[in-house]
Amino acid sequence: MHELGIVQSILEIIEQQMEIHGAKKVSRVDLEFGAMTAVMPNAIEFAFQVLTKDSPVEGAELDIKILPIKAVCLDCHHEPVMETYTPFCPECSTGILNIIQGKDEMRIVSIEIE
Ligand SMILES: [Zn+2]
Repeated sequence: MHELGIVQSILEIIEQQMEIHGAKKVSRVDLEFGAMTAVMPNAIEFAFQVLTKDSPVEGAELDIKILPIKAVCLDCHHEPVMETYTPFCPECSTGILNIIQGKDEMRIVSIEIE
């Protein structure tokens, strides 16, 4: 379960931010992941609950958004939006797709502190 490692690095960033801003508690965290990272939101939530136990981040609301895959076909210039990755364009079926969103994003959109 690589979600555990992901949440660990997210928590490190959160702790740094808390220190910078002198925060005592975190009330909300917004995260975004590209669909192709295959991150499971419920596994993230579970890892978050386990790893934040008895920490200032415990009980923070967690919002996880999965970014759909957006691509541009190099042949017909169609711009498909997909839930799952296919290497070829769904429009012309032969064009190679250039992925412009949903690939490897793993980001903290916002952290609400108290
Ligand atoms: Zn195409």
